Amino acid sequence: MYGLASVEYGEVRCRTALSKSRLPDLDYALNPYVGCEHGCLYCYARATLRDEAKALRWGRFVLVKKGLVERLAREVLRKPKGVVGLSTVTDPYQPIEARLRLTRRCLEILVRKGFPVSIQTKSKLVLRDLDLIKAGKVDVGMTITTMDDSLASMVEPRSSRPSERAEALRRLAEEGVETWVFLGPIIPRLNDSEESIRRVVEVAYETGSELIVDKLNLRKWVLESLAPLLDRLYPGLKWELPDMLRPGSSYLRELYRRVERICRSYGIEYVRFRFISGPEH
Ligand code: SF4
Repeated sequence: MYGLASVEYGEVRCRTALSKSRLPDLDYALNPYVGCEHGCLYCYARATLRDEAKALRWGRFVLVKKGLVERLAREVLRKPKGVVGLSTVTDPYQPIEARLRLTRRCLEILVRKGFPVSIQTKSKLVLRDLDLIKAGKVDVGMTITTMDDSLASMVEPRSSRPSERAEALRRLAEEGVETWVFLGPIIPRLNDSEESIRRVVEVAYETGSELIVDKLNLRKWVLESLAPLLDRLYPGLKWELPDMLRPGSSYLRELYRRVERICRSYGIEYVRFRFISGPEH
């Protein structure tokens, strides 16, 4: 156990470092941790768990993959080169990474062996690894669902504040790193207003980042996790969400028209995230 307040830490033996990814543009997924202390209420990585009690404790436990670095060092010698997503079901720069440097040690190996890496995070800690990022073929995506720090603190309780994420992205872009903004999930009433979306699009515009947009995905246990907050802020909304979010709904058509209009006003394009199999963050 490593022991930061209110999160339980433990270890799990690593069986595979580079697992095949079915997410767009990624060949492999590398997840240094199981669980994620950022604890985003909408996180559907929890759906990868078998146990409901554990899924609803998402954000309160992190298992560190024991033996990961050694296994990765062996796998890069025999697996074909391909783009590695770092990470797909956890945040590689969540708070414990500051102490353990597990992500950094993996990144060192990948960069040294010439594997392209695509990082996705909600943490300013990514700047710590700027030297490696610049040395390799590494792009960095920052998830920003809202620029409202107070809303983010309710929905993404242990991530860096959105203002800090935007600042990290600016720094990366200034250093010549290829960057992207993941605006997702957009959740009805919480962060779907013109103003809310515009502020995030502005960050993508200012930093010259590609923009990827996604709606809320109601995978297993997501609604249960969001329900207490929705009940407090918008009683009754949780019952409407499944219909609002069904493919082709009038809500979604209007949402994407709004995104389109805002992007056009900045002269940028956006890509809709293609949900295939796994969670993203
Ligand atoms: S969405 Fe990403 S950052 Fe948030 S809890 Fe899930 S894995 Fe962690």
